[in-house]
Amino acid sequence: MKPFAITDTPADADARKAIAPVICYPVEGLPRPDISDYRELRDDLDLIETLVVPPRDAASWTVPAGHFFRILCSEGPQVGDLNLFNANDLNERFYSGKTRALNGTHLGLGDQLFSNFPYLRPLATITHDTLDWYGFDEFGGSVHDVIGTRCDPYTHNLLSKGGQYHYCCHSNLTRAFAKATGKSLTEAEPFVHDVLNVFMCTGFTRDTGQYFMKASPVRIGDYLEFFAEIDLLGTLSACPGGDCSTEHSSDKVQCHPLVVEIYKPKRAPRGWAAPQPNGYDRTHTS
Ligand SMILES: [Zn+2]
Repeated sequence: MKPFAITDTPADADARKAIAPVICYPVEGLPRPDISDYRELRDDLDLIETLVVPPRDAASWTVPAGHFFRILCSEGPQVGDLNLFNANDLNERFYSGKTRALNGTHLGLGDQLFSNFPYLRPLATITHDTLDWYGFDEFGGSVHDVIGTRCDPYTHNLLSKGGQYHYCCHSNLTRAFAKATGKSLTEAEPFVHDVLNVFMCTGFTRDTGQYFMKASPVRIGDYLEFFAEIDLLGTLSACPGGDCSTEHSSDKVQCHPLVVEIYKPKRAPRGWAAPQPNGYDRTHTS
């Protein structure tokens, strides 16, 4: 949020502001999967595992490359904070910032979730979204953002003048990741990363550019579906903000569980192979 300007406005300010923007990362050259073939597989999937993420807590699962998983709203409006890891190398994990730079502020059908450097490859592809009708609302809000981070006890401590709260998504993800990997909480915490905010409805205010949230439009039965491009370890927190219509980082609002379903398709997509780690040679010099 910027304060009022304290410098003089130049004479050509209007002309400078009128310059049209250009897209930072034109994605026309980005390798894209054949989403129609991914979606063809959806007609004949076998549900092989179901797990419940308790409210104000998190849970983990693994999903093999070539399988699908869904995050499902089962009992009431609830947002989820998703972390993804390479199940075979936990140093490779979801990179929300670059995913945002490539796909935009909110994700939808066909978008891919990329991993951090030096791997930078697709971890998962979104193959169905029952909230795709929402688009962008009059406030600039939309669902499934990669512009937020994850609610956390440190920011809460700053904003609440010393408050201690232990069920923010950051802490929930830390506990679930520790349980899944056998690491201590201290060892696990640095692996927790910025999330995909599943079902959360967010944007930036037009006047001040501040991050906002509003009541999620998610209904019972809505789901977001992913195709696992590599073997994945997923961790999902059912945010203490519930539908995020008022606040988070407290026990005040109503929260609901979320459900994760893992599906096995009858075959692999035609011509599909798990993406390899990024091809940059890492010499950083010529
Ligand atoms: Zn949260």
